[in-house]
Amino acid sequence: MDKKEMLYEGKAKKVFKTDDEKRYLVKYKDDATAFNGVKKGTIVGKGAINNKMSALLFKILEEKGIPTHFEELISDREMVVKAVEILPIEVIVRNVAAGSLAKRLGLDEGTKMETTVLEYCYKNDDLGDPMINEYHIKAINLATKEQLEVVEEYALKINDILVKFFKERNINLIDFKLEFGLYDGKVILADEISPDTCRLWDLKTNKKLDKDRFRRDLGDVEAVYEEVLDRLK
Ligand code: UDP
Repeated sequence: MDKKEMLYEGKAKKVFKTDDEKRYLVKYKDDATAFNGVKKGTIVGKGAINNKMSALLFKILEEKGIPTHFEELISDREMVVKAVEILPIEVIVRNVAAGSLAKRLGLDEGTKMETTVLEYCYKNDDLGDPMINEYHIKAINLATKEQLEVVEEYALKINDILVKFFKERNINLIDFKLEFGLYDGKVILADEISPDTCRLWDLKTNKKLDKDRFRRDLGDVEAVYEEVLDRLK
């Protein structure tokens, strides 16, 4: 598949057109950003790790009935995906209080919650991805009622699958972010699933095995990304 002009460059990935108008090529970068782009850095080898880890998880989800944009890995850092139109919504799934939720609700990080929490953010860098709810989404046409129902159903199902999968590898899936896209008019899972987009804690020691090591300057960032991929393989 031939790589054509770049369509979009994000903080962690570049997206290229290909000779097939229904396929894009995604190239994962080592660039890391946090706090809405204010903190910038490099995590050496991250692009390759996130590419492989996303591919592995997309395959598992597909097998369990979740449609995803993943087609094939074509190099260390590149995958071919279905050309979707991304819904401008970030879907956050939380099992344990951490990060912005812990701060907002005055909970200690690590507090177990009675139920899974779903949150939505409006994907808009200028506004700093503000948190929104189902009413906002429908009111400003970010998705239809039907699309939102599918997003919610998939997000909860993905959570069940991933919690179990990570637990078997001694990892506690604290929270994660998903993005969905439209392909042939249908909602499918897109973007990535990696230590950049998940909070992953060691099941026994609670050691952070994710991007919080970069955000909070905890050290061992590269080693931890590699360790997570090794545990999944
Ligand atoms: N997250 C993400 N991209 C974002 C915001 C959040 O991938 O732009 C992920 C983040 O890694 C974490 C979860 O979503 O796993 C919840 O993040 P939170 O709202 O606590 O925000 P943060 O503390 O990351 O700013």
